Amino acid sequence: MGETVTTQAVIILLGPPGAGKGTQARMLEERFGLVQLSTGDLLRAAVAAGTPAGLAAKAVMEAGGLVSDEIVLEILEDRMSRPDIRAGVILDGFPRTAGQAQALDRLLSGRGLGVSAAISLEVDDEAMIDRVAGRYACADCGEGYHDTHKRPARAGACDKCGGTAFRRRADDNAETARERLRAYHAETAPLIAHYDKLGVLRTVDAMGSIAAIATALGTIVQRAAA
Ligand code: ADP
Ligand code: ZN
Repeated sequence: MGETVTTQAVIILLGPPGAGKGTQARMLEERFGLVQLSTGDLLRAAVAAGTPAGLAAKAVMEAGGLVSDEIVLEILEDRMSRPDIRAGVILDGFPRTAGQAQALDRLLSGRGLGVSAAISLEVDDEAMIDRVAGRYACADCGEGYHDTHKRPARAGACDKCGGTAFRRRADDNAETARERLRAYHAETAPLIAHYDKLGVLRTVDAMGSIAAIATALGTIVQRAAA
């Protein structure tokens, strides 16, 4: 906390599953007082709560497909209308289709706002499958782990909080990860050109360390939103 942004910043993180959008969004949230808005998290919450939107989304998500623009826009607009987003938002996993990007442009211009920066996290596809298929998290504190790259120091206990329960997303397996990557290339990667045209595209090499990527993103956000 501490650094502030003066305008209502709208930062978009673009990148395939496993690129580190969620990890980086949480770090930017703390550093700049922005609010992370993950449509994946919002949808998983809707599934867990058994709302009509959640019931419609569940099977699509488990198969690695994209939930309909209609449902996604409904939950996003609902979240964007809450007062806590005053300093601005980091959109993580949204927009994911051309229709969603257009809807976002309209929603923002209706509020006299625009996209501050759309940051594309550039990564290697095969590494993403491996990252996503092996990842899981502590059920208590959310600390992330990986079957081969980041195991807890003491087997079965979380390094951060000592918790012994872990959770794995239903869609984090190799087969579904491939389908999600396919959906990313077919539907979402074309948005890179859209934001380039708007003059707000930034790209970051996201194969490096979490800290190095955070530094690069911090500089971009500071310039785009100060
Ligand atoms: P990841 O980016 O790691 O694939 P997310 O948590 O962002 O995971 O999303 C998980 C799933 O939720 C997606 O595979 C998709 O089914 C659904 N989803 C999330 N955001 C959107 C969106 N903006 N439009 C359509 N479907 C979405
Ligand atoms: Zn923990």
